[in-house]
Amino acid sequence: MKSDESCIFCKILSGAIPAQKVMEDEFSLAFLDINPLAKGHALLIPKGHFVTVDEMPAQAAGEMLKNLPALVRAVKKVTACQGVNVLQNNGRVAHQLVQHVHFHIIPRNENDDFRFNWPAGSYPPGEAEALAQAIRKSIV
Ligand code: AMP
Ligand code: ZN
Repeated sequence: MKSDESCIFCKILSGAIPAQKVMEDEFSLAFLDINPLAKGHALLIPKGHFVTVDEMPAQAAGEMLKNLPALVRAVKKVTACQGVNVLQNNGRVAHQLVQHVHFHIIPRNENDDFRFNWPAGSYPPGEAEALAQAIRKSIV
């Protein structure tokens, strides 16, 4: 599997640096985030080194994500949280600091300190249809 010796998550995968592991199989590893947004904040990563999710072959993505429901169930059970955000950042502008694909599992509770700025907009007539068509044509 592809690895990058300068990548901190590849170092966790190789055992070069420690992590609080919570789930592991042939294709993916989950461990606690070292600077949690909430207690139980976990990261799910593929064993292969991919920088962003769009670089991943469908098979590698599927093999990793099949473990997501069980991981979320376990985090919810242990933390007794009221909800969970699954967050996946791609690119520096999207707050990706570690250049190895990772899914954040973030326990949420009423009145916690985690905030989104969610500037929801709307489309002028025809724009959503054109965009959807362009995206449909670009699916590979
Ligand atoms: P992101 O901003 O999406 O790239 O998030 C990277 C996450 O990786 C942050 O939440 C960090 O706290 C976490 N992180 C960085 N280094 C480690 C490490 N050695 N062990 C566990 N989590 C880490
Ligand atoms: Zn890596």
